[in-house]
Amino acid sequence: MAEKGIEIELDRVTKRYAGQKAAAVEEFSMVVPAGQIVVFVGPSGCGKTTTMRMINRLIEPTSGKITIGGEDALKIDPDDLRRRVGYAIQQAGLFPHFTVAQNIGIVPGLLGWDKKKTAARVEEMMDLVGLDPGEFGDRFPRQLSGGQQQRVGVARALAADPPVLLMDEPFGAVDPITRGHLQDELLRLQSELRKTIVFVTHDFDEAVKLGDKIAVLGERSTILQYDTPDAILANPADDTVAGFVGAGASLKALTLMRVRDVELGQAVTVRADADPSTVEAGDAKFVLVLDRRDRPVRWVRVNDLRRATSLERVGQPVQDLVSLQSTLRDALEAIVNEGGRAIVTGGRGEYVGTVDLSTVTEVVQQLRAGA
Ligand code: ADP
Ligand code: MG
Repeated sequence: MAEKGIEIELDRVTKRYAGQKAAAVEEFSMVVPAGQIVVFVGPSGCGKTTTMRMINRLIEPTSGKITIGGEDALKIDPDDLRRRVGYAIQQAGLFPHFTVAQNIGIVPGLLGWDKKKTAARVEEMMDLVGLDPGEFGDRFPRQLSGGQQQRVGVARALAADPPVLLMDEPFGAVDPITRGHLQDELLRLQSELRKTIVFVTHDFDEAVKLGDKIAVLGERSTILQYDTPDAILANPADDTVAGFVGAGASLKALTLMRVRDVELGQAVTVRADADPSTVEAGDAKFVLVLDRRDRPVRWVRVNDLRRATSLERVGQPVQDLVSLQSTLRDALEAIVNEGGRAIVTGGRGEYVGTVDLSTVTEVVQQLRAGA
């Protein structure tokens, strides 16, 4: 059983670096509720990393108090703190000369787990983040894509089953499509694990997508607003927050809605091994070819069907898929990439339906009317 999240409280926490006049973080007070994702969002240099690193004592506060699950963080023994607080950072921070399995096993190793227990845990974590242990366990970080490295970083942070997870711009270095997938994955994990997660980003869209609550931070980590994404979007506390929320707030609000919240359309589908002449396309201009496990592979123009002798090769490959957990913002991006319609897949990658532009436009109009 995974260990559920515990509450974190910061009480007037200040950090003054040696030789600096201004405090990097000044009198920061906040309760991070157990089992929720709180996102710190703010400009570069505002003290996000400093605040976060004081929670796991990589940085000692100059003054103030931090409690984790009701216990004074300064009084928790360092090994115990390491077990209770997982940490994932940008570019994954993997050790280049350690294999994937060794990287994930670092904290269990430091905690003195035996080899067998560590190996079993490493496999479990790789499964959890969607990396095949047999294929990837013995590789080195440089033999992985950026997105795969980030998955290893998350697996490593979760290896000792900490109730608290700190994530400092963990998806900052990957391309937007991969970032979207990693975000979806984190939300899926969190729906099972219910950890307390503090997530740092400078991307407001990412904050809206991931946060149960968002803390918008200004200079010296001053909390400009700390509330749910909906409340911040609807009612920015001041001009600075409004500027951050930015123009196109209704477009941003698409980040609050999931694909599972809207009615899906249906494409005409056909199995790749079917006889093209038997396809009943009705009014459709395109049909969607599925593989043996019902996973979408290609769009085929109905006009091209007549000339085709087999469905194994014709048409254009599907580029970009969304899941039921994806936001409508992600869906909109996929709709643009796919030229009109995004394909929605279920947990095994199987086709479940489509979202088209008119559905998204309707949602935007409803959000506008409600605002
Ligand atoms: P963020 O993560 O929001 O970009 P940081 O917490 O990294 O902000 O930095 C906050 C401020 O503290 C910055 O002005 C930065 O220059 C300063 N700072 C960060 N680390 C150190 C350090 N080790 N020594 C001195 N100043 C630092
Ligand atoms: Mg930082």
